[in-house]
Amino acid sequence: MKIAVLTSGGDSAGMNAVVRAVVRGGILKGCETWVVREGYEGLVRGNLEASTPEPAPPTFPDLPPETDGDVNLLHNLRFGDGQLLKDGTGDYIGGRTLKGRYIVRVGWDDVKGWFSEGGTLIGSARSKTFRTPEGRLAAAHNLIKEGIDALVVCGGDGSLTGADVFRAEWPSLVAQLLSECGSGSKCDLIASSRLCWIAKITREQATAHAHLKIAGLVGSIDNDMSMTDLTIGAPTALHRICEAIDNINSTAASHSRAFVLEVMGRHCGWLALLAGVSGGADFIFIPERPPAADPWEDEMCEHIQRHREVGKRKTIVIIAEGAHDRNLKPIKADYVKDVLTDRLGLDTRVTTLGHTQRGGSPCAFDRILPTLQGLEAVNALMEATPDTPSYMIGIQENKITRVPLVEAVAMTRSVADAIEAKQFDKAMSLRDPEFRESLDGFMTISAIQQQPVPASKRMRVAIMHMGAPAGGMNAATRAAARWCLRYGHTPIAVHNGFRGLLDDQVHELSWLGVDSWTSRGGSELGTNRSLPSVDLGAVASKFQKYSFSALLMIGGFEAFSSLLIMEEGRKHYPAFHIPLVHLPATISNNVPVTDFSLGSDTSLNALVDACDAIKQSASASRNRVFVVETQGGKCGYIATLGALATGASLVYTPEHGIGLDTLRRDVRFMKTRYKLDEKGRAEGRLVIKNEAASEVYTTDVITKMFKEEGGNLFDSRSASLGHTLQGGVPSPTDRARAVRLSLKCMTFIEQQHGTLMKQPQKTRHALPESAAVITIQSSSIEWVPVQDMVAQSDMKNRRGKDPWWLPLKDLVESLVGRPQLAAKL
Ligand code: ATP
Repeated sequence: MKIAVLTSGGDSAGMNAVVRAVVRGGILKGCETWVVREGYEGLVRGNLEASTPEPAPPTFPDLPPETDGDVNLLHNLRFGDGQLLKDGTGDYIGGRTLKGRYIVRVGWDDVKGWFSEGGTLIGSARSKTFRTPEGRLAAAHNLIKEGIDALVVCGGDGSLTGADVFRAEWPSLVAQLLSECGSGSKCDLIASSRLCWIAKITREQATAHAHLKIAGLVGSIDNDMSMTDLTIGAPTALHRICEAIDNINSTAASHSRAFVLEVMGRHCGWLALLAGVSGGADFIFIPERPPAADPWEDEMCEHIQRHREVGKRKTIVIIAEGAHDRNLKPIKADYVKDVLTDRLGLDTRVTTLGHTQRGGSPCAFDRILPTLQGLEAVNALMEATPDTPSYMIGIQENKITRVPLVEAVAMTRSVADAIEAKQFDKAMSLRDPEFRESLDGFMTISAIQQQPVPASKRMRVAIMHMGAPAGGMNAATRAAARWCLRYGHTPIAVHNGFRGLLDDQVHELSWLGVDSWTSRGGSELGTNRSLPSVDLGAVASKFQKYSFSALLMIGGFEAFSSLLIMEEGRKHYPAFHIPLVHLPATISNNVPVTDFSLGSDTSLNALVDACDAIKQSASASRNRVFVVETQGGKCGYIATLGALATGASLVYTPEHGIGLDTLRRDVRFMKTRYKLDEKGRAEGRLVIKNEAASEVYTTDVITKMFKEEGGNLFDSRSASLGHTLQGGVPSPTDRARAVRLSLKCMTFIEQQHGTLMKQPQKTRHALPESAAVITIQSSSIEWVPVQDMVAQSDMKNRRGKDPWWLPLKDLVESLVGRPQLAAKL
């Protein structure tokens, strides 16, 4: 199969990772891979001349004879020089001129080092010509001329609509090309199976290209596509926005100012909403849910006035660029500023973030998601038949999905239509559950007015951090505390874990006291690793002393172990017959069953930032392999995902271990890889190693081994990332996830408490399921009773059995060609 990939519409971070994944994934499946420059415009323009014949495969000094049959693969592995468009001229690729050529054959190394680049290196455009039938006819002709039969389109809803139109029209375009007079299938010549002398394609070409296979990937910073939780580029844009809010927060608080921030999102309020949740904003405006009150100015001013009355010194209002009132009248930042200034007397400033939201290096998620989705797009194309629909590759929670492109496009359009028809509830119902939950969460935690439950139902909820600090712990605590206060419950902070509890380090949390916690790293409550078993009886008596009605523990494996101890302790201590809940938070992501813990995204981003800098330094002077050691205990999650996000050449994890045979193959691979590099340019490569991958082959040993074996080909150094992986400021994903999961924990606690309260106090008996862990499992969020977790835990190594990310190690190494090179050379 010949696969071409193009990027279209507004650029977004992660598009380069898509191209890399499609190219490398395609080559690994034996396909020929092409890129189309400048989006659909490049497809329409095509190549001025037919593609030049491929250059002869280069010879390899150490190519043994038995690889002759696989010369194509090796040719692909060597083809190109990783400089495609990187020089900014847009005019050459792998030393070949691109003037007048928009559809270009690419190889393995053409996409080398693309991960850290923002935007799209193959160019994007908004093509008016492609919107016309003539433009699409030219596009079809250009694809057929190059023999391309499959197309991956990465762009926003417009681009995917274009892809859908193109796919639907394809048979008629082919028929038309076969009879250039334009009569298509009605052509007499075609009907009589005779040759048309003015046809643009041959009958063989028409037969071979009767169907165009298309897969769509959503590259859009707005996250405006239905049937997928996230679009490529949206997480990075959210990073940029949160960085801006964090910076603005300090100046706003210093001067007691209000700031009105306009963010992107014409038809979708995702960026504004998630920025509101993770930036701790006071008020947001999104297209799907305009303010309920008419006039809305009263609602906003009352809301912000209350915040000021409790002592807030800063106000942040976020507006999506497509925000409007219930009559669809646009709400603009300057007007909001005037209202805040005139009515509340606030010193108000407007900040429009504009294109800064698009820019910059992709965050970890915008490297991993496009890689997995790009590979899935190749799979979908390989499996496509004339009867299967064209797919859009999406994601639901943690599951890469395929949904029919037509349906996704139609549903996306129906959200815009619902807004247009002022059917805002319908628009909300068409958004994914995470969107709706995030909005409910924002409303709950930003509101001050109470909606107290009856006194008999009120709870005293203890909140505790356990284990090492992890990004999102504070945001989760803030959300839990605010939820409690809204419904008349009492949120109680237990400082420094169980030791703190035994020392009576306990105090009530207030609405204002937790206000700035969203963006804070570390643990505001203080944390340690002591388990309740240090003195279970004394812990139980403290539970009684403070009349805890429920406990929320935010932490890693220690929190899970503590939960287990207390659940088992229920046999002896009635004080533990309350809802006991664990919200996983650890950079190691080693809590069993759950796909993600809070903090794991922050630490991945810290790793990606560090590795980008290390790789730059490694490439600066001479060929150098950097062995980067990560934390993670006996769990290789962060090493594996970090390797996937940075394009590392090798990854070593405790789950797979390190053996002599592996090391020997890895050294051969590395040597081969450096031999195949273009001469004269230094190249840095990463090896990511978990701290506990092997007791014998330590980071130092491996570094020395690569240095010794590298000889004249490459040098080797090591770097240990250590505690830097805990990250300074939590990532927006961790903050938003913290809020969402924390509020789910509170709802669970409330339900379990309600069930318990139905029993007489003296004989109150909590069921095992009331001691549970909140988990993300593939596409859903599930509660797992702690006793059920045990079966899926490797208690000795403090990690889960069979985690979802384990197979990704092979993927990491496939994407750098290790298995192919190591086995063949
Ligand atoms: P963004 O979300 O950044 O705006 P987008 O993909 O939605 O990205 P658009 O400008 O709407 O951006 O679309 C990109 C290109 O897709 C258009 O310039 C056009 O070439 C093509 N396209 C969009 N809609 C159609 C359509 N209905 N028919 C044919 N082509 C289309």
